[in-house]
Amino acid sequence: MKAIVIGSGIAGLSAAIALRKAGLQVVLYERAPVLTEVGAGISLWANALRALDAIGAGAAVRERLQPLRVSEFRGDEGRTIAASFPASTLENALGYQPVLGMIHRADLVDALASDLPAGTARYGFDVTVVRDTGTHVEVAFANGHRDVADLVIGADGIHSKIRALLGDASPPRYAGYTCVRGVTAMPSGYLAEWWGRGSRVGITTLRDRRVYCWATINAPPTQRIDDMRAWLSERFGGWADPVPELMTTTPDGAFLQNDIVDRAPTRHWYRGRCLLIGDAAHPTTPNLGQGGCLAIEDAACLWQLFAQSNTLDDIFSAFVARRYARTTAITRDSDRLGRIGQWSGWTACWWRDAIIRRILPRIGVQELLKHARHVE
Ligand SMILES: Cc1cc2nc3c(=O)[nH]c(=O)nc-3n(C[C@H](O)[C@H](O)[C@H](O)COP(=O)(O)OP(=O)(O)OC[C@H]3O[C@@H](n4cnc5c(N)ncnc54)[C@H](O)[C@@H]3O)c2cc1C
Repeated sequence: MKAIVIGSGIAGLSAAIALRKAGLQVVLYERAPVLTEVGAGISLWANALRALDAIGAGAAVRERLQPLRVSEFRGDEGRTIAASFPASTLENALGYQPVLGMIHRADLVDALASDLPAGTARYGFDVTVVRDTGTHVEVAFANGHRDVADLVIGADGIHSKIRALLGDASPPRYAGYTCVRGVTAMPSGYLAEWWGRGSRVGITTLRDRRVYCWATINAPPTQRIDDMRAWLSERFGGWADPVPELMTTTPDGAFLQNDIVDRAPTRHWYRGRCLLIGDAAHPTTPNLGQGGCLAIEDAACLWQLFAQSNTLDDIFSAFVARRYARTTAITRDSDRLGRIGQWSGWTACWWRDAIIRRILPRIGVQELLKHARHVE
């Protein structure tokens, strides 16, 4: 059986590895001219690491992973909102380590791509047409290339063309805040979040003494900031250390800005011989750091279903049945967390922090591990 995978992000690369492991012939087509990943850091929770192990890509990723040591949660003035969690507490509760690791996206994509034989991934191929004839699928690309396969996996991200070709061309929904990310050199050794009014800042350690930092800010959609450093300094200059320092040490041009979006969950992930996975199927806001992890879980699920070699229709319907509730729970919880995190009123934030301070020490470990426990 031959599969065409569209997109060489986390979902497409993981799926290509998984399908090959299940014995399929795979060709992956990516629109970008070369393998690039401009993102900053990304969290990989235990659920994703288990899924990577299942498809055989765990070792290459772990080599480049920085495991979490301690996590903290603070107010913008620096006061601790919740007790810090040492990694050992979380690992003992989960029975698995690491519970959370951080990796640069470029390293993750590179580790996944290196798991594929040369020639599997082809760059500079922008899919334009997918035609399901009933017995196979024909795919056409902007550069004139055509290919035929038994199935197509649409892993082409939140603005998925395959999703549109399957009948859903609706735009993603804006969450009301934008996110600025960057990577800078600053040894720290832990994960911390500072919650202010209408803004949050987070830092996590990567390997090689690098720190990934992010900031979310309530903003109208598509607001573009010309002088990012000045804008961030103005917004975060009065926050507790080391937040202002992060804004000044991140190199010019290293900031990325994304409006935070997701989609209302739907089960319409496949038609005929085409299936959507990753952000193309179930995009989530990044508040739980699980969007990419879900894409990897999707791949592990595909591997298991194809290895059982049912009909394509059985496989795709089983995929939706297995993955819908899981991905919907994360989309919902992540959206909720983001809304609360972005509250901007003084009173609301005071109550929020007071409640978190009271309940997090009691429910924190279970709550932090709720989604990481999943085994796909
Ligand atoms: C600010 C932010 C922080 C995040 N942090 C985390 C985190 O810490 N942990 C986590 O797990 N997740 C995180 N996420 C979510 C994560 O980034 C996504 O869930 C993940 O990247 C989705 O991968 P994907 O492969 O489905 O899509 P994408 O990464 O978007 O990849 C899609 C690929 O398809 C290609 N493509 C698109 N159209 C075509 C076409 N027509 N033809 C051919 N190729 C095409 C694109 O070029 C791209 O390479 C975060 C997201 C954001 C915005």
